[in-house]
Amino acid sequence: MTGVAVIFFGPPGSGKGTQASRLSKEMNIPQISTGDLLRYHVSQGTELGKVAKPIMESGALVPDELVTQMLRERLAQPDAVLGALFDGYPRTVAQAESLDKILAETDKHVGVVLHVDVPDAVITERMLKRAQIEGRADDTPDAIANRLKVYREKTAPVARRYEASGVLATIDGDRPIEVVAADIKKVVEERTAAVA
Ligand code: AMP
Repeated sequence: MTGVAVIFFGPPGSGKGTQASRLSKEMNIPQISTGDLLRYHVSQGTELGKVAKPIMESGALVPDELVTQMLRERLAQPDAVLGALFDGYPRTVAQAESLDKILAETDKHVGVVLHVDVPDAVITERMLKRAQIEGRADDTPDAIANRLKVYREKTAPVARRYEASGVLATIDGDRPIEVVAADIKKVVEERTAAVA
């Protein structure tokens, strides 16, 4: 039996974290959010956290090799044997290549890549709202603009890679959470049943 990887892909503020968390409970496989893991390192003041902090605050990406090493360690935990939901990784083509290798080594395959699509104007509005509620250091107007730019330049090309291999499913994320969740559930059931 092989494990399944479900990848959530989309701009910051697309709601992919919320959706990944819901699906994680339904599928009973862990959500692995590199953003959350990095924020934990920052809060603990680890070496990685010290390097990551200013980069994250500017809205840029933490270097591939650091994030990939962190992800590799997380995926080696026993709860991820049967699979994992990836939230915020891969964010560059190099990370996608690393993920392919890591999945092959751990006997997992990409079941589906859920591209949660939301227009830029809606994203900016949502993130500014989140800034008021959560007070995240990277939800300032400048950092938001930079994160969107980084997404378009470095992360969007990753989607084309998955599209070419036929695993990409685009979900309209500009709808109520419940509606998006139902859509995601349907797509995941179809795609993962087909390859199980
Ligand atoms: P997120 O919570 O996924 O929006 O991530 C917050 C910040 O953490 C990003 O803006 C990046 O600075 C950093 N980060 C998270 N995941 C990655 C990744 N896969 N590669 C590089 N940087 C990342």
